[in-house]
Amino acid sequence: MDMQNLLDDIVGTIKPHLGQGEVAGYIPELGAVGADHFGISVATREGEVFASGDSEMAFSIQSISKVFALALVLADDGDRIWKRVFREPSGNPFNSLVQLEHEDGIPRNPFINAGALVVTDRLLSISENPSTAVRDLLRQESGNDSLVVDAVVADSEARHSNRNKSLAHFLASCGNLDNPVDDVLDAYISQCSLAMSCTDLALASRFLASNGMRGDGTALLSPPQTKRINAVMLTCGTYDAAGEFAYRVGLPGKSGVGGGIIAVVPNNCTVCVWSPGLGRSGNSVAGMAALDEFTTRTGLSIF
Ligand code: GLU
Repeated sequence: MDMQNLLDDIVGTIKPHLGQGEVAGYIPELGAVGADHFGISVATREGEVFASGDSEMAFSIQSISKVFALALVLADDGDRIWKRVFREPSGNPFNSLVQLEHEDGIPRNPFINAGALVVTDRLLSISENPSTAVRDLLRQESGNDSLVVDAVVADSEARHSNRNKSLAHFLASCGNLDNPVDDVLDAYISQCSLAMSCTDLALASRFLASNGMRGDGTALLSPPQTKRINAVMLTCGTYDAAGEFAYRVGLPGKSGVGGGIIAVVPNNCTVCVWSPGLGRSGNSVAGMAALDEFTTRTGLSIF
C-alpha cells in the first residue's frame, strides 16, 4: 500500500476513536477546541510530505515544544543541563509536585513540566533571542514563516497556571532556576502556545530522523545527541503512558495536551498526528490509535 493510501485509510479506521477521552479543560481555551478533529502527516527525511484529514489545521503544540527547547539547549550548551534534570521516566502525571520535592528539586526528565521549566530557564540564559528561539527554529525547519504564538491560548494558560507557578517557585527555592520565576513561566507558556499543523510539525521534527541535520543541510545536533533525544522521547515523551506508547507504537514520541503527538522513525521519516481527546495520562486517544495502526501496518518501528 502506498503512503497516501495508508494515511487516508487510517483516517477512516480511527473514526470510532474520535470524541473519546477528554479535551484538556484545565487550560480553558484548549477546552474550546472541537473533539472530532483528526489529522496525520508524514514527512520523509528528504522533505516529501504525505498528509490526510485535518493535517493543515493549526493546533496548540503545548508540550511538543519541549523537544525543540531541549534540542536548542543541547545544541548550544552540550551536556550541562543533565546536572539539573534527570532523564528517567517519571511514572507520575506531567505536572506532579510530589516527586519534585522527594528528589530535592531535580526534575525526573526534561519532558515533564518541572523539567521543561529548567530547560526553558537554561534557554533564557544562553540564547541570543530567548523569547523567539523555539518559534524561530520551528519556522525555519517547517518552512512556515507565519507560525505564531496563539496569544489567546497563552493568556488562558497564564491565567490558569498556579500549578506550574508552584513547580517553578519550588525549583527556585532549590536553587534550580537562574532567572526570575515570572520570566521562565512567560517563556514556557509562550512556547507551549505556538500554533502549528501536523504538516508543520512533521517537517520541523525531521532533524530527529536525520541524525541532527537541519533542512538546510547544517547540523543542529550531532548524531549521538540526536540518538539521546530520541531515547528520552521513547522513555519519557508520553508521561506515565510511555510504556504503553512504546508497546503500541514502538517509536520515540512526544505528546502535548493540545492533542498532538510527534513520532520519529530514525533515518526515515517523522509522523505527526492530532486529535484533541486525551486519555488519562494526557495523550491523544485517537492519535495513539493512529500511530499504533501506522507502525503496525508499515513495520516502521524501532523494534
Ligand atoms: N502547557 C501545558 C502545561 O504546562 C503543557 C502540558 C502538556 O502539553 O503536556 O500544563
